[in-house]
Parts: sequence; structure tokens; C-alpha cells
Amino acid sequence: MDRYEKYEHDVLIIGTGGAGLRAAIEASAAGVSVGVVCRSLLGKAHTVMAEGGVAASLANVDERDGWKVHFTDTMRGGQYLNNWRMAELHARESPDRVRELEAWGALFDRTKDGRILQRNFGGHKYPRLAHVGDRTGLEMIRTLQDHGIHQGLSIYQECTITALIKNEDRVIGAFAYDREKGKFKVFQAKSVVLSTGGMGRIYKITSNSWDCTGSGISLAYHAGAELIDMEFVQFHPTGMVWPPSVRGLLITEGVRGEGGVLRNSENSRFMFNDIPDLYRNQTSDNEDEGWRYTQGDREAKRPPELLTRDHVARCIVREVKEGRGSPHGGVFLDIAWIKDKIPNAAAHIKRKLPSMYHQFKELANIDITREPMEVGPTTHYIMGGIRVDADTQMTSINGLFAAGECAAGLHGANRLGGNSLSDLLVFGKRAGEYAAGFARENEMVQVQEHQVEELAAEALAPFEKGPENPFQIQGDLQVMMQDLVGIIRSESGLSKALEGIGKLWERAKNAGSGGNRSYNPGWHTALELKHMLTVAEAIARAAKERQESRGGHYREDYTGKSEAFGQVNITVRKQENGTMNVEQIPIKPIRDDLMQTIQEMK
Ligand code: FAD
Repeated sequence: MDRYEKYEHDVLIIGTGGAGLRAAIEASAAGVSVGVVCRSLLGKAHTVMAEGGVAASLANVDERDGWKVHFTDTMRGGQYLNNWRMAELHARESPDRVRELEAWGALFDRTKDGRILQRNFGGHKYPRLAHVGDRTGLEMIRTLQDHGIHQGLSIYQECTITALIKNEDRVIGAFAYDREKGKFKVFQAKSVVLSTGGMGRIYKITSNSWDCTGSGISLAYHAGAELIDMEFVQFHPTGMVWPPSVRGLLITEGVRGEGGVLRNSENSRFMFNDIPDLYRNQTSDNEDEGWRYTQGDREAKRPPELLTRDHVARCIVREVKEGRGSPHGGVFLDIAWIKDKIPNAAAHIKRKLPSMYHQFKELANIDITREPMEVGPTTHYIMGGIRVDADTQMTSINGLFAAGECAAGLHGANRLGGNSLSDLLVFGKRAGEYAAGFARENEMVQVQEHQVEELAAEALAPFEKGPENPFQIQGDLQVMMQDLVGIIRSESGLSKALEGIGKLWERAKNAGSGGNRSYNPGWHTALELKHMLTVAEAIARAAKERQESRGGHYREDYTGKSEAFGQVNITVRKQENGTMNVEQIPIKPIRDDLMQTIQEMK
């Protein structure tokens, strides 16, 4: 068989975004040897693109904030399908994780008296997002890397994991190839942390980077782990719609947090026309109060543009469908209007939203300090993913942990902006800690030669196949997911999508890569099809199962919330015969004190 390199670590971490780096720092601080693998370059993980901020109830801008308010906001945002223990840990621990980041050198924007500044975001009752202009993810990754690099981590870059390796019910390693030469690598480990991020690239219009194909979710699934909440995909309301070359690129919610408003072609602020009951007592019903909220008036209620993302995205789709859209099929997002409200507005916008200013100037020739942007929904985030234990982050497979966007539970049916970066820090740390603990308590198990041989043969198969083009299959999948498993879904559409995914599975069997193993994107994509199709199928099956509308999942044939579906999560698991099993599982009753907290905060 082909020669391969073999590496051994107590803990293997797959992915070097915020979750992976935070896990690596914690595991190595516990004194175990840590290997970190990423298929991009260090510093290029998707987290670097995060813009608006990290949510933590530091209460620097409004002292009424606290973990209980953050917990309640997260549960309400998730429409009570969240894993409440994760929501509790996240709300309690995120302030410490942000302060720790600052101690490690992160330079957050400051309040006048020198504390970390916090900004408003949708669904958060008080200004809660610590930020660095609109480049928060960049600063977060820089800080974690600078800190982590001194911890003696072994880093493997441009190295793609294609499969996890198991011994009975425990994970014992992973199989990979490197991008440069296409050489195989076997990582043997006592425990493994998956921190591989999201899956936006299975949709046509997305804010996500090329790396986000959902591969970690699929790696876990094929190893036998349970997935949960896969039907909940977040479509961010404000992506660029024009020109076509930048379609889907994100416009941070920070624009609306700083006072930006949404208007249709009739110049009407349509968000005032549709305020859900769940948020009525927190949302202003007039423009003046909404503006005052964004400027820090503590008595004012938030403008309807800062309702949760799922709702705002659907309102935009409705405006477009009913003929009140912008010329290129979106609506208008206007921050320039604040020139009527504050002096030196242009300088203020450039200071608060530098990336947005440059993004529009360079890519669309629009000066956002003078004219409105055209925006529309873009696939942004998956609330679902690998099911984990709330405290330890261990999956349903022994020794396999997951954290960050590939893990699930915290966000329920809809994630609040800023709650991902805090998720990465809180649960990345926990995953690292418990993976190190598992490694200390368990012996290394040897990966068997026949396991390596089987995985190598599978990885090389695309060189002997054809005539299907893997890029074409990926493209067809993206179009189908956008059309049939997107913002608005139906039984017939989802059935059609599942039928289509079945056909794509068949075509993928004949997807050939051509060329050789060195720097071969065709080979990479041919191997990735398995992961993209797995995740797409899981989303479509779970979406078909949930016969109601809630959070990121909207069914035009079941437009309301159902009491019965409000009591269950949907799980997906691979069966012995290789087919996908979908199941409804009851949500564990919430602890009394947490229920009381929710009642008190209402
Ligand atoms: P990632 O940062 O995506 O890292 C994944 C890592 O896994 C990468 O290193 C990748 O190379 C590696 N990987 C993947 N598959 C494999 C494989 N098979 N083998 C080896 N390595 C692999 N959230 C907020 O809270 N606040 C914000 O302001 C915010 N802004 C955002 C702006 C944009 C434009 C986008 C798209 C998202 C934003 N989000 C924000 C969401 C947030 O950025 C992501 O959810 C988060 O960064 C995901 O981090 P992660 O550590 O889970 O994964």
C-alpha cells in the first residue's frame, strides 16, 4: 500500500478557527501533547471573517445586563429548543472568556472610561457585543494564535481529514492527505476534537468561505455520532445582492446596530409592519424611539430592524415577492440617513464600520456614507450539527468531542448575532479541557494497517472514476438547496430535494478528479462531495420531519408554531444499513431556577 506518515498526540484537534484554537490552548495547558490540523493555512479559518462582535454580558455600557438576561435572550432567540444547560454555561462564562482574551492582548474598542465597548445586536436586550470595529474575528484569531503559538502545539496546515478512525465505540484517530503532494497522514490520538465550522457552501448564495462544506459534521455522522437540529439553517437578512460577483457577501448586523434602517422601493420602513408577539413589548413602534435606542437611550425600545435574523430575512423575502424590492432583487439598507441626526456622520460611519465602507466602495462603487446599500438574505450559519454533552462537549462517540459551529445545542432554532464567537470561546475551552481529561484517563489504541488501507483506497478512488465532474455536482447541489431547502420550504419541495440529492449521490459515485495528487482541487472536491451530500440530506430530512415554522425553519405548508414540535428536537443518525435515521426526541424539562429566570426576565 501507499506509504504514509504517522503522528501521535494525546489530543488531536481538527480545525483552527476560534473553537479549535481555544480548545488547543486549554488542552495543552493541561499538560498533554496536542496536534492541530487545518486544511487551510493557520490564520485563514473562517472565524477571521467575523465582523460585528462577541456577545458577553460584561455590562460595561448598560449595568442592567447580566448572565440571566443573556441566557433569557438566547433562549427566546432559539425559540426554547436550545439545550438550556449550554445556554446557561454560555451566558455565565462568556464574560470571563472575553476578559481573558483581553488579558492575552486583544485590543477591543473602548468606552470613554477605558472599558471594553459593547454594541447593540438583534435579539440582545442591552448593548452586549464586544467588538473591534467590524473586524472582531480577525483580532480574535490573531490573539488566540499569538497566545497558542507559545504553548507547544504541533500544527499541520493544508491537511484535510477525510475520515475518523474508530476502535469499537471509541475514536482513536483520523486519516488525512496534504494539499501539496497529496501524501497520506495518519493521526493516532487518545481523544479528538472536531472544530470544523459550518456548511454555507452547500447553498448557492452564502456569506461563508470556501472552507465551509460541513465536513466535520459529516465525519462525525459517518463515524456513528448523532446530529441534532439540522433543519435550522440561518439565512442572514443582509448579504450583498449586486454586483453578481459579490452576491451573498455579508453586511454586518452592526450596520443596523449603529442606526441603519431597512426600506423598500416605496421608501417605507416595512419592518414596523410585522413585529412578532414574542418581541412586541421590547420593540419600538416609531422611528424616533428606535433611533434613540441605537444611540444608547436606556429607556427606548429597539427598532424592528433589530428583530431576530430569521424574521427580518423573511420580511425582506416578502417585500421582494410582493414587488416592493430594489432593482436587483433585494431591499435598501440605509446608514447614510443618520447625517440628518448627527454631525460628521460620514466620519462616524467610516470609524464604526470601516470594512463595510471599503467593501461597498471597492466592490460595488457605492459610498455608504451617502447612499443606501442593496441587501438580501444569504446563507450564513447552521444552528444544528453534532450533538454534544453540554458540560464536556463529548459527542455520542467516546473520546470524540466537538465545539464551535459544527457542534449544536446552544442556539436552538435561531442563533443571536455575536453568540457564535462567544460559543467558540466558552465551549472551545470546555472541549479542550475535557478532551485532555479523557486523554489522561485512557490508553492510546493502535490504528490497524487494514483500516489505513481501506481509507487510502477510498481517498484514491476519484482517480479511477469518471465521467462526472465534481464541480458540476457541487454546483447543482447548491442551486437545489437554495431553491428547495432555503428560506421558505414545503413538503413537496423537500421531497423533490431528497429525490434530487439521491440522484446526486448516484452521480457522485462516478465523480472523477483527473490530474495527479499534487494541489488538485478536483480531487479535493470529489472527496468533499460525500460530506456536502450528507449534510444536505440531513438538513432536508430534518426539515421534512419538522411540520411547523420556527426560527430558521419556515414551512409554507405549516406556517405556525406547533405545540408538539415545540417539545422536541430532531436527531439524525446513520443506521447499520447505511441509511439516514431521523427521530424526534423530547427536550429535557428545564431546571426550575432557570425557568424562573426566564419568567422574571419577561
Ligand atoms: P471556523 O472558523 O470555520 O474554522 C474551521 C476550521 O476547520 C478551519 O481551520 C478549516 O480549515 C478546518 N477544517 C474544516 N474541515 C476540515 C477537514 N475536513 N480537515 C481539516 N480541517 C478542516 N459570529 C459572531 O458571533 N459574531 C460575528 O460578528 C460574526 N460575524 C460573521 C461574519 C461573517 C462574514 C460570517 C460568514 C460569519 C460570522 N459569524 C459571526 C459566525 C462565526 O464567524 C462562525 O460561526 C465561527 O467563526 C465558526 O468558527 P469555528 O471555529 O467553529 O470554525
